[in-house]
Amino acid sequence: MHLSEQLASRYRRHIMIPEIGTSGQKKIIDSAVLIEGASVESVTPLLFYLVASGIGTIFLNLDNKNNLANITENLLDLNPEIEILTDERNTNNISIKVIVGDKTFVQKALNKNKCLRSNVYTPTLILLQGSWCGIIQIIRVHKELDFAFELTQKYLPDPSSYLEKSFCDAGKTISSCFIGALGSIETIKSCLNIGSFLHIPLFFDLLNMRFVNEADYKPFYSDKVVENSAHIKDISGARVLVVGTGGLGSPAAYALTSLGINTIGIVDSDTVELSNLNRQILHSTSRIGIPKVKSAETFLNILNPSINIITFNTRLTSINAQNIIADFEMVISAVDNLQTRYILNDACYYAKKPLAEAGVFMFDGLNFTILPDKGPCYRCLFPQISPSGEMSSFSEAGILGPVPGVMGTIQASETFKVLSGVGKTLEHNLLLYDALEAEFRMANLNKNPNCQLCGNKF
Ligand SMILES: [Zn+2]
Repeated sequence: MHLSEQLASRYRRHIMIPEIGTSGQKKIIDSAVLIEGASVESVTPLLFYLVASGIGTIFLNLDNKNNLANITENLLDLNPEIEILTDERNTNNISIKVIVGDKTFVQKALNKNKCLRSNVYTPTLILLQGSWCGIIQIIRVHKELDFAFELTQKYLPDPSSYLEKSFCDAGKTISSCFIGALGSIETIKSCLNIGSFLHIPLFFDLLNMRFVNEADYKPFYSDKVVENSAHIKDISGARVLVVGTGGLGSPAAYALTSLGINTIGIVDSDTVELSNLNRQILHSTSRIGIPKVKSAETFLNILNPSINIITFNTRLTSINAQNIIADFEMVISAVDNLQTRYILNDACYYAKKPLAEAGVFMFDGLNFTILPDKGPCYRCLFPQISPSGEMSSFSEAGILGPVPGVMGTIQASETFKVLSGVGKTLEHNLLLYDALEAEFRMANLNKNPNCQLCGNKF
């Protein structure tokens, strides 16, 4: 099994994962995926992660192809090794079919698929997008299609009757980003035949932070959220700082920009490298070697020209942290080392700024949100850097590309909820994601009374 030096470098972070390796990456490259979607917009986050991961051939079957040429140009700049086709005639050897869209679209697509009776059935991944919520399920046997169809009719809550339209629209954007990254992971797992498959659907609700893998799921919009929705804060002038434009910063900034956050600050001192491109969707092959903040600014300006981007081409240190965060309402920690996490934690604590945290390692990710004086801080959970300096950097660990995509999108979602004052945020919960098992778990978090930063002072 051999990959050229160029490809080995591009997919280095995948190849480092034992479950993938060179042979697994070769399998991903040899895979073909057929995507059925309503519009270019609804499949864009999914496309970015599939393309970054190296899925070799992508067939697109879209009802509305508006803006496809522009997006395709960006996708091929991210990864020129990929073939993107809109001709359906050669779709015989596809590895997996992905149906992505809202309830109406998915029902229509499932009906059409039910008519395709055949002995050999192509695995079909259903990505049902709602507002703040959605359902993911993989169908690998034809007869399960009836079950999937029933599901779409019964369960997806529609918050538009009690939430403001702009808030519902924001929820659709978040859901599309989240399901794009999550759907890419399930697609890659299916192509590689690794991990657990979502035969039993996964329901997610990012407004209430609920993830349910059970068949007996019930709709879950609580009265509390309904009551709160009358008090959505105006966030039209919001200013958010994203520290790091790598694996986590890319999806976080992508989602914030798609949400139309007024001003986004980005901090990074690195330049774009080929081995970043399996996951860092803000960057591209033609921008290798240029500062990441410049590359990110270029991408985000195209994605949404109406927002303001402020760039800091520098490393965040204990000297400059207070100055950099001063003009922002909330901070997203999207860094790859522990030292900067402590610096950000302390700076945000003293400046009373909320901070969305995340971390990733191979197939795993975690999220929590630090609200000064309300919940625990980073030092409550991880009191100090180990004396040996071990684990001080994850910058060289294996990472499945779309895993930080999931965690970074949650950071953006947390930010939107904190700023607008609606929904349940992760200030007292640690969210743990295991991509291989397709599982989200929540652990309770408490303030540490002995925390050297925010604990009881005597
Ligand atoms: Zn603390």
